Amino acid sequence: MIQSRRNFLKTAAIATIGTGLAVSNPVKLFSQNKKTSPGSGKMKLSFKPFDLQLRHVFTVAANSRTFTPLVLVEIEYDGVIGYGEASMPPYIGETQESVMAFLKKVDIGQFSSPFLLDDILTYIDNITANNSAAKASIDIALHDLVGKLMGQPWYKIWGYNPAKAPSTTYTIGIDTADVVRKKTEEVNGLYNILKVKLGRDNDKEMIETIRKVTDVPILADANQGWKDKHLALEMAYWLKERGVVMIEQPFTKTDMENTAWLTERSPLPIYADEAFQRLNDVSKFKGVFTGVNIKLQKCTGMREARKILDTARALNMGVMIGCMVESGCAVTAAAHLSPMMDFADLDGPLLSANDPFKGITYEKGMIVIPDKPGIGVEKIK
Ligand code: MG
Repeated sequence: MIQSRRNFLKTAAIATIGTGLAVSNPVKLFSQNKKTSPGSGKMKLSFKPFDLQLRHVFTVAANSRTFTPLVLVEIEYDGVIGYGEASMPPYIGETQESVMAFLKKVDIGQFSSPFLLDDILTYIDNITANNSAAKASIDIALHDLVGKLMGQPWYKIWGYNPAKAPSTTYTIGIDTADVVRKKTEEVNGLYNILKVKLGRDNDKEMIETIRKVTDVPILADANQGWKDKHLALEMAYWLKERGVVMIEQPFTKTDMENTAWLTERSPLPIYADEAFQRLNDVSKFKGVFTGVNIKLQKCTGMREARKILDTARALNMGVMIGCMVESGCAVTAAAHLSPMMDFADLDGPLLSANDPFKGITYEKGMIVIPDKPGIGVEKIK
């Protein structure tokens, strides 16, 4: 494809020079000549629901579940397919039905080329105010498609060093001391950093149980479960003494006052997760949180995730990349940003039992981004 485009440009340039005209902008010339331009086909969007089964019942502060509903998306153009995915854990407020209703409204065939990423994704974003997971599914599929057409993986297009991809955290959900000990023993030695769900009434027991098995660093995710700022500050000191390196979403997502109070005094950085969704939240959170947890399903995909990364850095804020319980498709898409992150919580594929994609892998707990065009996933089911 790239070769044929180059050949075309060369031929077009020669033809124009033959007429005595100077060629100052061959790309413009290329786009004006629609008849002979390669890739003049139409983009086609298709999608289907899929239930991603979990290996273990997953419990966080608010609920437990055994599977996560997904919608898998494909965008086809000139025989090349880009893969995308929407994932809907309960708190995101979307369902397979709402995502598919959104996708039915999308008229992607109106765009002449998938390379018009900005035009297409602005159009998608303007269809409704919410539906961030549905929007992310299109964004991911489009990035996959465009990367494939360019013959390059996104971390290369963006210029990120894959050797800087961090270790992923591995998540231990809330449970009895016995189950937590068993789960920790199961993964002991496999991961360099754990993420522990807190926010019920057994926070100290959770940490003490894990510390009997391993001394790897821990991210503590309270999932909005803490209520009292003084207890939270006390807990932050207690956690720091036990090798916890960061606290995620201590209070309910609308509680900016207590969060800012805690962030100012806490010996550990405080990151926003449920409170944080999109690019325009970043500047609002300066001084309230230390950093933000970027998830493609919340922020509408890779394009906005990269803007969030740059904006947060410009504001001297921390950034991490996280995932929902997702298949290898969306998690691999997120992995392309991971070399630029302070933390990466990309364990989705490790938690599921029927992943339809192969992409991201892990070597001694470190993220390995596939070196294949697009997002680099392979459909295996
Ligand atoms: Mg979280």
